[in-house]
Amino acid sequence: MLIVQKFGGSSVADAQRVFNVARIVTETYDKGNDMVVVVSAQGDTTDDLIEKAREINPDASKREMDMLLSAGEQMSVALLAMAIEKLGRPVVSLLGWQAGFLTNSNYSAARIKNVNTERIRNELDKHRIVIVAGFQGINRHDDVTTLGRGGSDTSAVAIAATMRADLCQIYTDVEGVYTADPRKVQGARKLTEITYDEMLELATLGAQVLNNRSVDMAKKYNVELEVLSSLKQVPGTKVKEVAKLEDMLIKSVAKDTNVARVMLVGVPDEPGVAFRIFSLVAKAHINVDIILQSVGRDGTKDIAFTVSADKGEAALNALRPYLEQVGAKQYSYDDSVAKVSIVGAGMETHEGTAALMFEALADANVNIQMIATSEIKVSVLIAREDADRAVAAVHKRFFEN
Ligand code: ASP
Ligand code: MG
Repeated sequence: MLIVQKFGGSSVADAQRVFNVARIVTETYDKGNDMVVVVSAQGDTTDDLIEKAREINPDASKREMDMLLSAGEQMSVALLAMAIEKLGRPVVSLLGWQAGFLTNSNYSAARIKNVNTERIRNELDKHRIVIVAGFQGINRHDDVTTLGRGGSDTSAVAIAATMRADLCQIYTDVEGVYTADPRKVQGARKLTEITYDEMLELATLGAQVLNNRSVDMAKKYNVELEVLSSLKQVPGTKVKEVAKLEDMLIKSVAKDTNVARVMLVGVPDEPGVAFRIFSLVAKAHINVDIILQSVGRDGTKDIAFTVSADKGEAALNALRPYLEQVGAKQYSYDDSVAKVSIVGAGMETHEGTAALMFEALADANVNIQMIATSEIKVSVLIAREDADRAVAAVHKRFFEN
């Protein structure tokens, strides 16, 4: 079998953990598998490098930032390869460009155009374990690029997709995907399986197990993923097209505190207003999530929307001239909010799921500010101070009886 394994930063944080990973890799290799192993930078290395850059030049170009940040993964691939050498197995480490990762030139958030896996194939033919630096590639100008924070998951899935690997295992410091954050919610359970769509929603809604772009790519190329712990040898969670019916209405409760709510009170109730507002926000490169518009009354209406926590101010700045021009009564943003969501393909075929969630919130005396739904999720915006209580109440309602 061809197996791709990916190890996150915490799994290779120090020498002992590097050896732990080397052992997992060599055990799989010894069973006769071809192995491509993708690693992230050790521990907080990427954050530390960003801090180093700030001390020198807070406005450093993205090109130079990518040059700097890619160093983190260069270190970890070499260290892991050395550990495997010490265990006496043939091994070679490769940087993104050596492994054939061609990306576009969008530094700091580059997209993979293709992976030319010829070099990897050659190394596998020589029966070497191939260690590949995650998160990085090269553009057509031969400059180093990075895929954005958490990008190593995507590197691993891209290799698995291109090489049609039999399995793509994402090793991390949690044992899999849970019904809620197991560090916060007592009674949170590990899921054995979850669908791509559910995982995609969860990754986007704040669960920090998998990078959402990697899930998107896995779905597109039908790469079966397994999320599992590098520290504890127990089965993890499989992410696939169709998960077995576990008779679960919802799969997980997620919390996202990286959110701010922008309120625009008393804008004109006439055609084109939402268009003007959201094109101004888009022009400022700000992503909008939940949008709520009130019913017009006396010629005006109110619009509220959410953005990531650090973008509230910027959204208002982008809108201020327009809001002043049309005489909006009031505008502000609030970043003391949080988004709590339930996700599950089961709600597509069951009515009343949202009502159950709202009932749990009402019983816990949590006020809902905004609501958004899709076929497989319900999200509510609430006060941030209520968030942990809300997650616990909703989890209890769906999983603990
Ligand atoms: N080292 C990079 C980061 O910390 C990439 C990754 O961990 O996936 O964002
Ligand atoms: Mg990292």
